[in-house]
Amino acid sequence: MKTKTLLTKTNRLGLFEIRMESIGGLGANLAGKMLAEAGVLHLGLNGSNFSSYGSEKKGSAVTSFVRFANPETTIRAASPVDEPHVVAIFHEALFKTQDCLSGLQEDGILLVNTVKSPDEIRVLTGLQTGTIVCIDALGIAVQEKTRINTAMLGALCHIVDFIDPEAVKKVIQDTFSKKYPALVESNIRTFDRGCHELTVQTYTEPDFNIERRVFATQTLGYKTQTIGGIIVNPGNSMFKNLSASRQGFLPAFNADTCIHCAACDQVCPDLCFVWEQRTDEKGRAFQFLKGIDYQYCKGCMKCVVACPTDALAKVRESERYAEEHQTKHVFQLL
Ligand code: SF4
Ligand code: SF4
Repeated sequence: MKTKTLLTKTNRLGLFEIRMESIGGLGANLAGKMLAEAGVLHLGLNGSNFSSYGSEKKGSAVTSFVRFANPETTIRAASPVDEPHVVAIFHEALFKTQDCLSGLQEDGILLVNTVKSPDEIRVLTGLQTGTIVCIDALGIAVQEKTRINTAMLGALCHIVDFIDPEAVKKVIQDTFSKKYPALVESNIRTFDRGCHELTVQTYTEPDFNIERRVFATQTLGYKTQTIGGIIVNPGNSMFKNLSASRQGFLPAFNADTCIHCAACDQVCPDLCFVWEQRTDEKGRAFQFLKGIDYQYCKGCMKCVVACPTDALAKVRESERYAEEHQTKHVFQLL
C-alpha cells in the first residue's frame, strides 16, 4: 500500500473534487466516507467529505462530496462540489430528474452504474468531451448480495490514478468488520469486481451529431437569488415522477393470476394501482385491477410481499420496461 501520494491534477484551490449523485439506500454516503478516510489515513493526503440529503428516507436524492488535497494544502472549502473532476452516478434514472453533470470539467470523468455502453451514455447525457466509465454495479451487487457502493468505489479506484485500491480495501475491511463482519468478504469481492468489470471510453473531440447540452454551473449568488418567498417551481404530487427512487427493481404485474383482492393496494404507499369497474360473471359491478402506474412506484416491493398469488413479482428494471408496461391513471382536474 502506498504511504505517500501526490495528486496529479487539482483545481485553482489545489483540490481534487468528486461528487457522487445517488438516492437513499444505495450507500453513497458511506462510499464518500470510506473514500475520504482511505485518502487521509492511508495515502497521506488531506481530505474532506460530507453528504447532502433531505428527508433521509430510501429513494430520496443524496449527494456525497469528497475533496482531496496534497499534504501542504489545507482544505478550506466547505461548500458543495460545484465543478467536480469526477461525477459518479449511482442510479441512471437520476439523469431524468436532476442536472447530474452540472459543472463537470471538460476533461472530467463520468462514472455511471448502468448496463449501457459509454457511447450510449454520451448520447443520453450530451457529454461532448471527457471520459465515460460504465459499470453494472447493480448486477455485481445482486450477485454478491451486497450494495452497489463498494462496486462503485472499486470503479473509482480504477479511474482515479492516485487512489490506491489497497487503501480503500483496508477501510472497507475496517468499516464492515466493526458492524457487519459477515459482509466483509462479499464487499471486498464486490470492490474487486468494481475495479475490473468496467468499460472506459475517452472522448477528446466533440461530436456534433450528439445534441449538445449546457451543463449548468452555480448561478445563484447574493446578487442573483430569487426574491424570498416566491416558489418558482411549485410541487404537485400528481405530476411527481418517483421512478428515480427505484433501486433497480420494480413489481411486474401478471393479470392472468390476479384475483383482484386489493391486498397490494392496501400496502402501497403511493397511488400506483389502477382499477377499473367492470361486471363480473353474475353481472355485478366489480373493481378489476388493470395494472400499475409506474410513475408513482418507488420500488418498495410491499405489494409483492402482500400479494397472495404470483400476480406480482420483483424483477430487475430494464430499459423502457416501465414505459411499455405502464397503466396510466386518468385524473379529472376539478
Ligand atoms: S413497489 Fe408496489 S407497493 Fe411499492 S410503490 Fe411500487 S407499486 Fe406501490
Ligand atoms: S394483491 Fe395480487 S392478486 Fe390481489 S389485487 Fe393485487 S396483484 Fe391482484
